[in-house]
Amino acid sequence: MYSIQDDNIFNKPDLSIIIPVYDEEENIVELYENLYSILSELDRTYEIIFVDDGSTDNTFQEIKAIQNSNIRIVRFQRNYGKAAALSCGFRKSRGEFVITLDGDLQDDPKEIPRFLEKLKEFDMVSGWKVKRQDPLSKTFPSKCFNKLTRLITGVKINDFNCGYKGYRREVVKNISLYGDFHRYIPALAHWKGYSVGEIEVEHHPRIHGKSKYGVERLLKGCLDLMTVTFLMLYKKRPLHMFGGIGLVLSFSGIAISLYLLLLWITGTPIGDRPLLMLGILLTVIGAQFVSLGLIGELITNTRNNDDYIIKFDSYELENGR
Ligand code: UDP
Ligand code: MG
Repeated sequence: MYSIQDDNIFNKPDLSIIIPVYDEEENIVELYENLYSILSELDRTYEIIFVDDGSTDNTFQEIKAIQNSNIRIVRFQRNYGKAAALSCGFRKSRGEFVITLDGDLQDDPKEIPRFLEKLKEFDMVSGWKVKRQDPLSKTFPSKCFNKLTRLITGVKINDFNCGYKGYRREVVKNISLYGDFHRYIPALAHWKGYSVGEIEVEHHPRIHGKSKYGVERLLKGCLDLMTVTFLMLYKKRPLHMFGGIGLVLSFSGIAISLYLLLLWITGTPIGDRPLLMLGILLTVIGAQFVSLGLIGELITNTRNNDDYIIKFDSYELENGR
């Protein structure tokens, strides 16, 4: 297995380009050539990090054959998914600016200078495939998904799932990805307090190879959206959510039970009332929700991971760090 042995073999570049690739053998050479012609025009040092996400074709050999000392390859043991590939690329990257793009020639390297320009203004810039060159089975669900995500997360961009994105170094340092969370990077960055901008990008149809995602991603995407929102709102205080629901249910149950108790005292039989069942059920389920919240608090408490990002610290300044 090819691995990066030494993170200091190159000097730190200005720009890191990260490309996750999974079975893209026919696209590698052309992509590299397009990239090279753009990057060599820029007055910046760069590194191109290919993350081979467990390809089963000749993708790895194609990358390895490229003669350019600015290329780094990381090869996964198996296919872990795009989020893992991006996350690994983020960790390996050392550029002041980081740009991610898909390795299937759908994203055009000519947009790189525009991303860099926009990154002067924003901490993170997301691409917007205004004329998306994909079949309707992809574009329509994607439109609905984007509208929903925009509504729920409050991030005012049009295209969450665009692989083409630019970041300032500190954003990639502070974002952790797993599962299929790459779709929510703009929301994660926004919630961490970073500014998120958007630029329109040209999108090309896929000529070689197959798309790795089908319609099933819509369902997965919705579940992930739920997770991301829950984590952002309640990760640090799970009891606020579970406890809130639990208390409402329990109080309703107790109120029903008290009412029935009153009837019983005044001599009305309540043994065959369905309301009795409902009262008991609500009280018990409510108590379970509260317990769930408390268990959540226990888990959050035992993990002492500070979630804040410090922008300025006079102590570090005084100590010359
Ligand atoms: N990709 C990856 N791992 C995966 C699936 C996809 O690294 O498990 C890469 C793929 O090789 C491509 C990019 O992610 O470079 C986008 O994938 P794809 O073109 O299949 O997605 P679509 O454009 O259809 O949304
Ligand atoms: Mg694609």
